[in-house]
Amino acid sequence: MKYISLNHNSAPTSFKKAVINGLAPDKGLYFPKTEIRLPKSFIESIKSLDDIEICYEVINKYIGDEIQKDKLLEIIKNTVSFKIPLKKIEKSIYSLELFHGPTLAFKDIGAKFMASCLDHFKDSYTSKKITVLVATSGDTGGAVAKGFSKTKDIDVCVLYPKGKISEVQEKQITTNGSYVNAIEVEGDFDLCQSMVKRAFNDEEINRKIALTSANSINVARWLPQMFYYFLAFKRIKNNKKNVFSVPSGNFGNICAGVLGKSMGLPIEHFIASTNINDTIPRYIKDGIFEPYNTKPTISNAMDVSNPSNFIRIQKIYNNDLQKIRKNISGYSFDDRRTKDTIKMLYNSRQYLSDPHSAIGYLGLKEYIDQTENDINGIFISTAHSIKFKNVVEETINSKIKFPSSIQSILKKEKKSKSIQTYSELKEILLDRN
Ligand SMILES: *Cc1c(COP(=O)(O)O)cnc(C)c1O
Repeated sequence: MKYISLNHNSAPTSFKKAVINGLAPDKGLYFPKTEIRLPKSFIESIKSLDDIEICYEVINKYIGDEIQKDKLLEIIKNTVSFKIPLKKIEKSIYSLELFHGPTLAFKDIGAKFMASCLDHFKDSYTSKKITVLVATSGDTGGAVAKGFSKTKDIDVCVLYPKGKISEVQEKQITTNGSYVNAIEVEGDFDLCQSMVKRAFNDEEINRKIALTSANSINVARWLPQMFYYFLAFKRIKNNKKNVFSVPSGNFGNICAGVLGKSMGLPIEHFIASTNINDTIPRYIKDGIFEPYNTKPTISNAMDVSNPSNFIRIQKIYNNDLQKIRKNISGYSFDDRRTKDTIKMLYNSRQYLSDPHSAIGYLGLKEYIDQTENDINGIFISTAHSIKFKNVVEETINSKIKFPSSIQSILKKEKKSKSIQTYSELKEILLDRN
């Protein structure tokens, strides 16, 4: 498969180069050049196929012969290595739990898949050391750090905003041993992201290091997120229409679902559920794309006001706002409603949810209230509640138990460097190579 740049000023390139580059030379996001439709016979047989087989069918055409079948199957097995339950919460409403991976967040899937692909490609590409540079608003960092913690030939630098991520998230970023460099930035996520962008544009750095991004813009992180929409479909035992509500920040996750639909997966509608950083819900409603300053919320992994991946959704729908509206609804919710929902789910449904997942539930309810369709409503639960322990415990007025994997991480010592400016980042990057 060839990948084009959505800025349309770079030549199409291979999957391998798209993974290693992260962004195209013209700074555009990569996008598959050819549209892929899955055979109807495959869609009809999903419910009887093995999970790994399904994932292979879904992704192999996006990679082509750049990774041999056996290797790709092995990568998929290592990626989809934990349970992905679909739990019924109330009539017609299900939670798709994507938080049973190593760092208890859905990003484990994309991060692990990308780490395995890069590891596979590294020798044939460059003599320079590959450094993965990533900015995180919380969950990306842990998942990437963990995903790459064993790939010894690849260096990893994770930037996170000081004091704006939870204790568990911070420990997941800062306790992964010597291949992973954790960098604490005095500022918000947007500052972290702008430093990362600057490093990618820095000629001196590019001369000395093969920099690559592990943010959700990387095709090797973005594409495998399709897996769980297909696996959710497999787990549903009726023929009603399927509606997915996706708690969205940078819009990588929902965009993978939209791509899955474009390939033929029977999904009736998507709901982009956001916190008060509501650029996309406003855009869908008014047709005006106007990011405001990012505001901090209790669902901080979604504190993003200019979502990078939205341009891919626009591409899939040919920049046609009417088509986007037909396929995607957007709703936003403030912290008070998020907390009320965490409380209600806990007290009335015996279901513990984190703030992001609660927003997914809220978006779904809002949609169902307005349409009254008899549907399968599936909201994606993107993180385990323990990752947002303080706010969840305070909200439900009760303690939540640490899963055993987290207990051991909390005992480890935090190792990170604190920075304020881009030049400090540059020094660290050049110093490590
Ligand atoms: C990253 C993240 C999101 C948002 O996902 P996007 O793909 O950036 O839209 C939602 N919830 C949690 C817990 C996350 O970590």
